[in-house]
Amino acid sequence: MNSKEIRERNLGNKIYLTAHIHMITPCNLSPRCSYCSLSSKFESVRAERDVLTIDEILHYIKKVEEVKEISSIILVGGSDLRGHDRAVIDVVKMARRITDAEIAIDVGAPLKVETLETLKDYSVTVYSSIETINRKAFTDAKPGDSLDMRIDLLNVLERLNMDIGTVIMNMGNEKDVYDSIEFLKRYQHLKYLYFSTFKPVKGTPWENRRAADIENTIKFIEHARQIFPDRHIALADVEIEGGSLSPWILQELDHGAGNTLAGILLYKYKTFNYIDSMLGLEKLGYEIVRRK
Ligand code: SF4
Repeated sequence: MNSKEIRERNLGNKIYLTAHIHMITPCNLSPRCSYCSLSSKFESVRAERDVLTIDEILHYIKKVEEVKEISSIILVGGSDLRGHDRAVIDVVKMARRITDAEIAIDVGAPLKVETLETLKDYSVTVYSSIETINRKAFTDAKPGDSLDMRIDLLNVLERLNMDIGTVIMNMGNEKDVYDSIEFLKRYQHLKYLYFSTFKPVKGTPWENRRAADIENTIKFIEHARQIFPDRHIALADVEIEGGSLSPWILQELDHGAGNTLAGILLYKYKTFNYIDSMLGLEKLGYEIVRRK
């Protein structure tokens, strides 16, 4: 069976849209990740990831709550090797009072077991993005971060039977991506697997590194679908241009991606709203799920 057929058989044609709210916590890694806009020498580039105030987070959650096509809210923040436990719990409690949408958090590792238990009570999905299982590549990409802590977090989430999300980055080395997919087989609770495609950002240590190929990333999705028939798998960071559906979205769906895709991306100074465009999928036989 091809990957699209596997996805259709296991997940059907219902599409769930997410709203990503950036950044709920500051990034305290030092040095910052080599590819991240926060490591740019240009202030204007770093500002793309400025941290939201509590009032701004609240405002965004309320705004997203009104959009019934949004099934889940991903609260994204920067990392801290000492953890962001208190901030995460405060934001999740606030969000839960406002919305019945699913909530996920993505603030790197670590998080204390007690924090995770509280998040479990709130039915929160927790992301621990490994990016790559190749230690050398991880250290090159994320010199201030810890792969071991990210894996430890995955292990604790698995032990607590919590829904897990993770991201693998296509940095241009195929073997690393295949090895990373293989590594994730051990997590029965992996629910969301996203693939990002490295693109150089101005002023960062990796600004002159060659961009990875998005067509290859789609090939990895096709492969991952064969291994994980019923998980939510998709490209990360696909932008829709000119109000029409990005050809990448149609291509990833045809190669087994689905069924949770980005609907709205909210940053401190910018918002990208793809809902109208995503509704175009309904003409192609997909159903966009709406909350009551
Ligand atoms: S942990 Fe995230 S926010 Fe911090 S530098 Fe790395 S990619 Fe950027």
